[in-house]
Amino acid sequence: MPEKIFYCRGCGACCRWPGIVRARSGEIPAIAEYLQIAEEEFRERFTTLAPDRKSLIFTDRPDGACIFLTEDNRCQIHPVKPLQCRTFPDGWTVPPEFRQQCQGEYR
Ligand code: SF4
Ligand code: SF4
Repeated sequence: MPEKIFYCRGCGACCRWPGIVRARSGEIPAIAEYLQIAEEEFRERFTTLAPDRKSLIFTDRPDGACIFLTEDNRCQIHPVKPLQCRTFPDGWTVPPEFRQQCQGEYR
């Protein structure tokens, strides 16, 4: 039987959950280029130092959502979003209370 594939419905719930989104140094050039800004400007406008000081992380919106989540629940940097986002949810252990909020499904 073929392995089931996860289909995201783009509800944006996971982009509002508490937690950090790392912007690893190797991922920053492509994101800055996509946004058509310099890497330094990208770091200043959209990132802050992670609590563990191991990397930069994306800044939160005032309501706690990722700064790149748009008003219509889209990822503003979808084609170049970090590996952390591209491997969600298969690459992550998601607590049941959050998993229930996800509208995606395996088919
Ligand atoms: S980068 Fe995009 S996919 Fe990742 S948390 Fe932010 S809005 Fe969501
Ligand atoms: S919560 Fe699930 S369905 Fe909604 S955007 Fe995230 S992965 Fe997609």
